[in-house]
Parts: sequence; C-alpha cells; structure tokens
Amino acid sequence: MFDTVLIANRGEIALRIQRACRMLGLRTVAAYSEADRDAPHVRHADVAVCVGPAPAGRSYLDATALLLAARATGAGAIHPGYGFLSENADFAARVTEAGLVFIGPDAACIRTMGDKVAAKAAMREAGVPCVPGSEGALPDDPDAIRRIAAETGYPVLLKAAGGGGGRGMRVVREEEALLDTLALVREEARRAFGNPAIYVEKFLSTPRHVEIQVIGDGRGNAVWLGTRDCSLQRRHQKVLEEAPAPGLDAASVADVGGRCVEACRRLGYSGAGTFEFLVEDGRFYFIEMNTRVQVEHPVTEMVTGLDIVAEGIRVARGEPLSLRQSDIAARGHAVECRINAEDPATFAPSPGRIARFDLPGGPGVRVDSHVGAGSVVPPHYDSLVAKLIVHGATRHEALARLRVALSETRIEGIATNLPLHVRILADAGFQAGGVDIHHLEAMLGRAA
Ligand code: ADP
Repeated sequence: MFDTVLIANRGEIALRIQRACRMLGLRTVAAYSEADRDAPHVRHADVAVCVGPAPAGRSYLDATALLLAARATGAGAIHPGYGFLSENADFAARVTEAGLVFIGPDAACIRTMGDKVAAKAAMREAGVPCVPGSEGALPDDPDAIRRIAAETGYPVLLKAAGGGGGRGMRVVREEEALLDTLALVREEARRAFGNPAIYVEKFLSTPRHVEIQVIGDGRGNAVWLGTRDCSLQRRHQKVLEEAPAPGLDAASVADVGGRCVEACRRLGYSGAGTFEFLVEDGRFYFIEMNTRVQVEHPVTEMVTGLDIVAEGIRVARGEPLSLRQSDIAARGHAVECRINAEDPATFAPSPGRIARFDLPGGPGVRVDSHVGAGSVVPPHYDSLVAKLIVHGATRHEALARLRVALSETRIEGIATNLPLHVRILADAGFQAGGVDIHHLEAMLGRAA
C-alpha cells in the first residue's frame, strides 16, 4: 500500500491534507504552482514539485503534469482536495490507470454524481428523498414537457444535468414562459457543460440548505456523521456554516441519514462525501452529492471529534472503516466563518500582501489557514484565506466564543469579509437559528 501522497491542491486544504498524512506517518509531495512556492505545505513537504505557472489551467488543473510529478517522486496516491480536479471523473480514472490510488470514490461514482439526472435516479433507487419533478431528462415533445411541468406544479425550476454551483438553472413561474425558457437553458447548458440534458424540479421558495456528511470504505461499510447547515450564502457561495443544523426533528434527520448510508452502500462509496439537501417545512429534498471533502468539514469534526481527512486516507489505504454508526455522537455545536480576501462592501477580490494577521485562540477555537503576516494572496485562485471554527457545549456558547474570536482577529494589508461575519453574528434571525437560503442576501439588501 502507498506510503507517499501527492497533494494536488493548494491553500488551506493542501495544508490540512498534509497534516493528516504526516499524522498517519505518510510522506507528502506538494505539487505547487509558481504562485505558491512560499506556501507552508510546500515548506513542510518531504518533496515539493513545481507543476507549472500560476494560472490553474496550467498547474492545478494539468492532469498530465500532476501524474508526471507523482511518477517522478514515487508517490503512490493522489489526494485531490476540493475544487480543481477533485470531482473530475476522467482524472480519477487516469490516476487509477497509472497504477496510483485516487483518494476518494472511484471514477464511476464521481461520474454518476456529476450528472444530476443520473445522481437523482441513483438516490431515488436508494430511497433518498428528492425534489419532486421530472423522472430524468426532459423529452423533446412540447406537450409532454408541458404535462411534466404542470404535474410538478408551478413555479418550477429548469436545471441542467451538467450544472452546479447555481449555474445552468432558471425559474419558470407560468406555462407561457416554459418552452422559451427551456430553449434558453438548453442552449446555455450545451455551451457551458457540453450536455444539453435538462430536468424539471419543483421550485422551493424558502428552503434551508442542510447537508449530511458521510464516509464509506468502498466495501459496503458507511456511516453518516450528522448534519451541517449552510444556508448563509451569497450568490450560491457559502459564507458561514454550522453543525448540527439547528431546530430539525431528530427522527427525520436520523431517517435521512440512514438513507444516505444505504445509498453509499449501494454505490460502493469510498472516502468522504456529502449529500446536500434543501429542507422546507421540515422535509428533506436531495439536490446533489459532493464526492470529496468539503470546505466546511471542520464543523463536523468539532462536534464528532473525528478526523474526516485522516479517515478518508485510511480507507484509501485499504483499511476497513474503523467507525460504526453507534460510535458516532455529536457533542455541542460548531460554527465556521469563511474568511475571504475580498472587499466587505463590493465583494470584489482583494489579493495582495498581508501586513498583519492576528489570530484568535482559547478553548474551542480552531483556525485552518495557510497564510500569515508577510504572505501574498495571489489573484489567481479563490479568495479563502482562513477558516475560523469555534465549538461550544451549546449553540449559544459557540456564538459567544465566535464573538470573542472575531474581535481578536486582525487582518491588515488586504481587505477581508470579517465585518460581514460580525454583522451576521449580530443578526437576530441568525441568532435565532434556522434561516433560509435567502436570508443573507436579504440582510445585505437592508442598510448596514
Ligand atoms: P450546487 O450549487 O450545490 O451545485 P445546484 O446547482 O443544484 O447545486 O443548486 C444551486 C442552488 O440553487 C442551491 O444551493 C439552492 O440554493 C438553489 N436550488 C437548487 N434547486 C432548487 C429548488 N428545487 N428550489 C429552490 N432552489 C433550488
């Protein structure tokens, strides 16, 4: 089995993965771009290989360069992290064909979940509740399309099978607009995703975003690790996440968790994964599965005491899942703030040199970050510079810790969204818990 892992990523997640590897006694290879030569995970790596210039297309997304780096350094496995090539089924297949271990599910699983029509079909089969709508992609016959939309009930959402991240979908409020909008979405999907398949879903007006973390070993063993609430989003980008999702009925959550585990068993799912749901009126509706570790995994780690990244590496090494469902208990409450290098008012990216970087500390405080005073935030990648995670015995205590932690945090030289987090924390709706996915944008629409 492998003893060297090539980390095909950057930023905080590259460092996070490296820490897990080192803790497990594995050697690490940092595959980095020219913009990241001073990154801490490059410094701490057993071997560091520059795979190309700053633009991701010529480094972190260059599968050939990454595979060459793995061969040249004797790496036996590749960890893709999140973003970049992490949900690229062709890359996972190439890794395996090269005789290496892809740390994550197999290519077939990634491919199924990357096609939302196929993913929903797999979920329906496993008994995971889905948003009502068309069974599969829409046909061409206009009458059949009108019938499906009417049966679903307006307003409906037209979604591209290959879409994601809020791209490739449009709301249709009445039948008159159905066929024209469909033609538009089809054309957009053909151009953006190379897949013109479109399906229909009921448009939920005020849902929450609740997700369930799972981990499987690819041999039929899987567990679910509780819920996260990621409803605080701006333009479909998560800003603050918490675990567990507040105010949900425990029996309904346990029922859905069990169904997610059943889906993992059927899929032969290996590694960490997340089932994303919209929740409205207490009911869960599956929207998609992310077949990788997520940015917000630490809130689940804080309440379960588990190391999700290390567990994912262990199962990739062929070890059976060491966890049983009865071993998993959630303790207390955790919240994560994504601290981004961006203008707090306009949200424009704010790359540059960090002059000051004071981090908080104390009980229940964790910071996952790859930067410090003197670091340069390059303009080429996403703007996440740190994740501030707090844990408390109760939600109330977690929020109190977050308030102190945010007040201790000082970042200068670049603009950050720290003021936004302070504002969220002071918001009555957020304090009460359980806001819907429109809450943050509504809050931003109001005067500060
Ligand atoms: P992702 O962004 O996770 O790839 P989608 O592209 O399917 O997932 O959806 C993006 C966002 O659009 C969701 O997070 C949610 O805010 C919204 N959305 C998706 N499906 C529906 C629906 N049926 N009703 C209302 N909103 C939806």
